[in-house]
Amino acid sequence: MTERFTGTFTQQEAIPEAGIEAAIAVMRHGRLHRYNTAPDEVSETALLEQEFAEYAGSQYCLAVASGGYAMATALRALGVKAGDKVLSNAFTLAPVPGAIASLGAVPVFVGVTESLTIDLDDLEGKLGEARVLLLSHMRGHICDMDRLMAMCDAADVKVVEDCAHTMGAAWNGVPSGRHGAIGCYSCQTYKHVNSGEGGFLVTDDPHLAAKAVMLSGSYMLFERHLAAPPKEAFDDIKYDTPNISGRMDNLRAAILRPQIADLAAQCRRWNDRYTTLEDGLRDTPGLTVIDRPAKETIVGSSIQFLLLDWAASAIRDVISRCAARGVELKWFGAPEPVAFTSRYDSWRYAPSKPMAASDRVLAGIVDMRVPLTFSIEDCALIARIIRDEVSRAHNRMSA
Ligand SMILES: *Cc1c(COP(=O)(O)O)cnc(C)c1O
Repeated sequence: MTERFTGTFTQQEAIPEAGIEAAIAVMRHGRLHRYNTAPDEVSETALLEQEFAEYAGSQYCLAVASGGYAMATALRALGVKAGDKVLSNAFTLAPVPGAIASLGAVPVFVGVTESLTIDLDDLEGKLGEARVLLLSHMRGHICDMDRLMAMCDAADVKVVEDCAHTMGAAWNGVPSGRHGAIGCYSCQTYKHVNSGEGGFLVTDDPHLAAKAVMLSGSYMLFERHLAAPPKEAFDDIKYDTPNISGRMDNLRAAILRPQIADLAAQCRRWNDRYTTLEDGLRDTPGLTVIDRPAKETIVGSSIQFLLLDWAASAIRDVISRCAARGVELKWFGAPEPVAFTSRYDSWRYAPSKPMAASDRVLAGIVDMRVPLTFSIEDCALIARIIRDEVSRAHNRMSA
């Protein structure tokens, strides 16, 4: 019998009841704007920031309208200007080069290794070109952060971490987002917490935090924050930092607060699913599992494997045969960007020299989402289907 999977790869879990009730309370009182508070009231947004700062272990936290907005704000706070070059990953998603381009700055792409992390040797050669690295922990893969930070510190390159896929993850015991100058997170539906849209920015630097708060559109109400620096930090900057509105609102904050409280438990559930998939895929002929380093604490909300050096037609064949059995895989190597997949050469506003070693890796990356609505049994079934189709295609090729 040919097994089929019938679940939905884009279906997330419901919002926790506590979040639904808190959101209804906000709608009943009508004070959705974060600075619209009754006397002595602390807004949901300010509480969320305080709770996320505690979760991340940061001095300061600002909640904003999206992950992309958090990244652009981080770059602005660091003084990136139009025309400046900003280093970033060749293997990432469109909001990352988009955040750089939104300032009129210019992305300089750094290659990707077979571990799906930034190529630190390539980075080393390019450090002289920019003052800032927007480092994307794409699909949750974290590079050797100790080596990366040593290199960037030595070159005086500031690091902004894109933690859209690593909220809850860590390198060498240090949470993702807490290595560089600023960490940015997304609360968009497909990430680790879900408010539809939303994001966070965390830092320990009072100057950067104050700039970010002003940039987000705090008017002169920054004293209503609980996770912002003291008002003296605003003295120098409040008259010459533009307002580029991108605030979080109390409705989304109300939805998010219980999810932050549940995050550690949710991450364990993701990892149970990831491990089941990884075990099921290991030793499939022609398929390379991405081994995760011992220093990496992962959150397995998606899984990747490589069909390295396979012909495009054979990869397409595997993807369509898996799709016919209900398993939705994404191929990052597709010559034309499809849905969320993309390659650095499809961002034509940021031309790059070709990187042959990275192109070889990108051409082989197959990706799958792991929503928490999948059971462990679902994951075991999905792995059997992929294994079956990849082995058959591999046999056809070697026949
Ligand atoms: C989703 C995502 C972001 C941020 O996205 P928003 O939709 O703006 O919240 C940033 N980087 C990566 C790699 C992402 O996937």
